[in-house]
Amino acid sequence: MSGQRHDGAPLARDTVYVGAGRDSALSARSVNPPIVRASTFLFNSLQELDAASKAPFDGAFYGRLGTPTTFAFERAMAQVEGGYRSIATASGLSAIVAVLFAFLKTGDHVLIVDSVYDPVRRFCNRVLLGMGVECTFYDAGLGAEALEKLVRPTTRLVYMESPGSGTFEVQDIAAIVAMAKRHKLVTAMDNTWATPIFFRPIEHGVDISIHAATKYIVGHSDAVLGVITTNEATWPAVRQASQDLGACAGSEECNLGLRGLRTLAVRMRQHEATALALARWLVEQPGVSRVFHPALETSAGHDYWKRDFEGSSGLFSVEFGGMSAAAFDAFACALKLFSIGFSWGGFESLILPVHPEKTRTATPWQGAGPVLRFHAGLEAPADLIADLEAAFAAVKTPAHA
Ligand SMILES: *Cc1c(COP(=O)(O)O)cnc(C)c1O
Repeated sequence: MSGQRHDGAPLARDTVYVGAGRDSALSARSVNPPIVRASTFLFNSLQELDAASKAPFDGAFYGRLGTPTTFAFERAMAQVEGGYRSIATASGLSAIVAVLFAFLKTGDHVLIVDSVYDPVRRFCNRVLLGMGVECTFYDAGLGAEALEKLVRPTTRLVYMESPGSGTFEVQDIAAIVAMAKRHKLVTAMDNTWATPIFFRPIEHGVDISIHAATKYIVGHSDAVLGVITTNEATWPAVRQASQDLGACAGSEECNLGLRGLRTLAVRMRQHEATALALARWLVEQPGVSRVFHPALETSAGHDYWKRDFEGSSGLFSVEFGGMSAAAFDAFACALKLFSIGFSWGGFESLILPVHPEKTRTATPWQGAGPVLRFHAGLEAPADLIADLEAAFAAVKTPAHA
């Protein structure tokens, strides 16, 4: 499938999502490429083995370096992210770790946004510090000038996540990228929240885009999968580090990632509409002190979201100012359509308490009450709002008032 219509016009994005990675040479006549599960590929001669070993990432060589199924997912991701190439990994976290290992060695320094996905902070504190790599966490709202003051001669990498985990601060990517380029720093961004439907970091000058494909790309809460997309300059280092870490993605998971891409555009439009309906309704409720949703004007970095993003996804948080722990628990338990659980990005609505006050180190969290993260699933918005209404009523009963 070429990237053009018969009349030469470029294909619309939705069409690109349906065709990306569907190489007919790989798939015979089935709609989807076959799932190739393989550790071993066979070579007809030592000459053929020798030739393949010179380009082990460009064709079937050894299962850990990729199968036709993982290559199809990687090609599709590179295409929809607008990157040079992509690498599928065992999980979102392993994708992040591969990028950190690709550029950091003993004596180096890395700048990491303070609202980073918490396991990344733990990796920095437990592994990178022990290796003699220094990590500075910076406030997501820091301007590029203030961020520049944190750059040291040993700084190698600026690691962004925008919007941030739990509290959804959006960063000024353009200004940070311009600053990083002046200092020849590599830039990487966790793009899991937006998906390439709503934001493509590489088009904004970021060197590397990372996804927990576990979330929206797989989209059905049934697989753990990561993917890194790089520009041409950073590809060799990231590919090498991923190979050395050995945390490759399985063919079945990559197939689920490919399957998720086919419906990503329609799912994201529904997640967006439902989350906005919930967020706008929640803002009006007594007991809600703040709603952290990048598309709301009151949310941190909203202007950058408006400037850079093409939409908003289904994940946002709500602060319940002054709510007691017992009432918070009663509210969460009263919800029937929102289950309590980790991860997000599937078809189902979820809630999870988040604790920015326990993790932030650059700037102490100024909170007025407990914070609950919501994932808006694909249920009817009116049903979800009725469920929330009932939960608010439950905490107003005398036992919790
Ligand atoms: C879940 C998540 C990850 C980690 O993904 P796993 O596949 O669970 O390892 C990374 N970044 C963000 C923003 C996430 O939400």
